[in-house]
Amino acid sequence: MTAQLLDGVALGQKLRAGFKLKAEELAAQGVRPGLAVILVGEDAASQVYVRNKVNACAQAGIHSEKYTYAPDVAPQVVFDKIAELNADPKIHGILVQLPLPGHFDADAVLEAIAPAKDVDGFRAENVGALMQGQPCFIPCTPYGAMKFFEEAGISLKGKEAVVVGRSNIVGKPMAMLLMHAGATVTVCHSQTRDLKAHCLRADILVAAIGKAKMITGDMIKPGAVVIDVGINRIQEGPDAGKLCGDVDFESAREVASFITPVPGGVGPMTITMLLANTLESAERAASA
Ligand code: NDP
Repeated sequence: MTAQLLDGVALGQKLRAGFKLKAEELAAQGVRPGLAVILVGEDAASQVYVRNKVNACAQAGIHSEKYTYAPDVAPQVVFDKIAELNADPKIHGILVQLPLPGHFDADAVLEAIAPAKDVDGFRAENVGALMQGQPCFIPCTPYGAMKFFEEAGISLKGKEAVVVGRSNIVGKPMAMLLMHAGATVTVCHSQTRDLKAHCLRADILVAAIGKAKMITGDMIKPGAVVIDVGINRIQEGPDAGKLCGDVDFESAREVASFITPVPGGVGPMTITMLLANTLESAERAASA
């Protein structure tokens, strides 16, 4: 079997075309959706992510503002900017690019964002609402992953889903969304015994680990749907410098029924759902 690709670029473009119309509708009602992005430090990957987010906003007709700070900036400067943006009616979403330098308390920074503008969905209120199945901003990466199932008509009801990784921004919300959608979910992490045995039971396998090509074809149940969240830079060999996922794509695609590539899978969908959340926030402001 050669797996069908779940193409995040194509799905993202399709959704973003609809977003542009929505942004125009809102602008006609006097509310131009706006996103503020805060970047602290000089991490090369973060700079690329922020640039992509700002460009995606421009293409979707969403106003964006970017604030960049030196790695040694005093945290209070960033807190003051967040307070200003919280009060700014032009801004409907605030995103602080992670990771932050070590002298920042990242949780405190995220909690400083007004809940109504927390389009990343990382604040405790949002996390609690997600857990209870209440309306919330769904964290963008797992939200994007869920869109693949919807688009490909993959039902999750009664399926065995295994999520490898339990971070607050990917693994945990992913598990929650899969559970809400009717899957029976197992969450694996670095202390899991016999990861392979868990993975082999998965009809739906989500890898969010941060370890290049760790999930190999022999760990995948034939016909499984594989969502590869990982973004890793290959360090050595002929492909040094290129990106790869947490899944060994070549061996996995021979076993899986559907698979997301890296790059071009979950990454573009993460940005797409950031736009979706920003629009949702602007819509709420328009109807307030
Ligand atoms: P974290 O480092 O926060 O979490 C990694 C998780 O993987 C942890 O729960 C860790 O377990 C688990 N893990 C580590 N080693 C193993 C192992 N040997 N076996 C099983 N589990 C293991 O990473 P993130 O969740 O933030 O990101 C994961 C990956 O996704 C990264 O490559 C990141 O770059 C990428 N990413 C991609 C995005 C996109 O848009 N495509 C967005 C966000 C992240 P433990 O908790 O026990 O330490």
